[in-house]
Amino acid sequence: MKRLYNTITDRLQESIAVYASNGGGSHQDRAGVERLVDSMNVSVKKHPLNAEGRYYVDCDTCLDHEWCVYVAPNNFRMAEEVGSAYVFKQPTTPEEEAQCKRALDECPVGAIRDDG
Ligand code: SF4
Repeated sequence: MKRLYNTITDRLQESIAVYASNGGGSHQDRAGVERLVDSMNVSVKKHPLNAEGRYYVDCDTCLDHEWCVYVAPNNFRMAEEVGSAYVFKQPTTPEEEAQCKRALDECPVGAIRDDG
């Protein structure tokens, strides 16, 4: 299990390096990371603190770097004990929806999902 974790971590780090070298932020980069995770049969572990609804954070993929909290402070928080962000409130206004969408688009490892 530890070996699998290390392999996944290494592959994600490679993807993040590519993401960063491309200026960080294209939809193609994010889609590539998501495809990589999907192709490795890594199950998505939805953080139990995530509020019921469309948006949520995969706590095993999250890098714990708080970008989503900065981008969408009304909706994301950090769970220090888990080392992951989570959605504490689903968006209820167009502004919050836009902020959550931005957080999803800019999460460097595709840890934010909107298919909940
Ligand atoms: S932006 Fe992504 S990786 Fe960073 S804290 Fe939020 S969910 Fe985690």
